[in-house]
Amino acid sequence: MNEIKEVVVVVKWSGKEYPVDLTDQDTVEVLRHEIFRKTQVRPERQKLLNLKYKGKTAADNVKIGALELKSNFKLMMVGSKEADIEDACRLPEDVGEVVDDFDDAEEREESVENSAVYLAKVQRRVRDYKINELAPPREGKKLLVLDIDYTLFDHRSPAETGSQLMRPFLHTFLESAYVDYDIVIWSATSMRWIEEKMRLLGVSNNDTYKIMFYLDSNAMISVHVQERGVVDVKPLGVIWALYKQYNSSNTIMFDDIRRNFLMNPKSGLKIRPFRQAHLNRATDTELLKLAEYLRKIALHCKDFNLLNHRKWESYHPKKNS
Ligand code: MG
Repeated sequence: MNEIKEVVVVVKWSGKEYPVDLTDQDTVEVLRHEIFRKTQVRPERQKLLNLKYKGKTAADNVKIGALELKSNFKLMMVGSKEADIEDACRLPEDVGEVVDDFDDAEEREESVENSAVYLAKVQRRVRDYKINELAPPREGKKLLVLDIDYTLFDHRSPAETGSQLMRPFLHTFLESAYVDYDIVIWSATSMRWIEEKMRLLGVSNNDTYKIMFYLDSNAMISVHVQERGVVDVKPLGVIWALYKQYNSSNTIMFDDIRRNFLMNPKSGLKIRPFRQAHLNRATDTELLKLAEYLRKIALHCKDFNLLNHRKWESYHPKKNS
């Protein structure tokens, strides 16, 4: 395999400069996703003025290496961000909602997991992303990583208060999980909104459990998937590199979007999305059932690599562990 070269592009936008780390293997589309992360200007709204390939505006599928950019190339961008608070709150998770989730895509998932280009990106996150620890890790605990939108909270339905949109049994679930797991919240939105939501839901100041830390979209990486272009995923390697006690044998991650697991397909459990809170508030018991699953695997399974979370509902300790 050819050596992967790091490329830094300095994006100039609205009078400020934003350095973006890439590799020569990345495409222009990946660059756009990275710019989105830094500026909140959505990829389709970015006009990259001086990014040329063979004399023309570089298309999204052109590799960064092919552009032969000078080091610290200054890229001029025009574009406006989502000023609207609601939009910012919604993005970018809904980008993936338009298309079906890939439930049957195991082979593809495996191939992304070990790609050197993406592992290099994970390393860059490890190097650059600053984790603000809210509670220390505890000796001997496993790790639970939770998405927010549609996993713990219906962020779309209209409601008067946060509690009306909260998934039923949220606090019971977190309290139960906390017995065996250190808990991390990872949402593809901004830190400001994660903090806001967690406060709104009464998670950040609960007496019965603690959240270890929050991760936002800046801890995610963009990967290229043949059938759908560039998608943003949540690589557990970012956590594992900084907290060596956790690894694939003792970590589980919940998300309503399976593509978020692309770097760690075996560690992900796709939760049924909690939508239309007003209709489903009375009947949704996913979190109760999942609390029980978490308890059982913590007690009976020494190596989570042996589990198939797609079949969590039929897990029996004696048979599977
Ligand atoms: Mg979600």
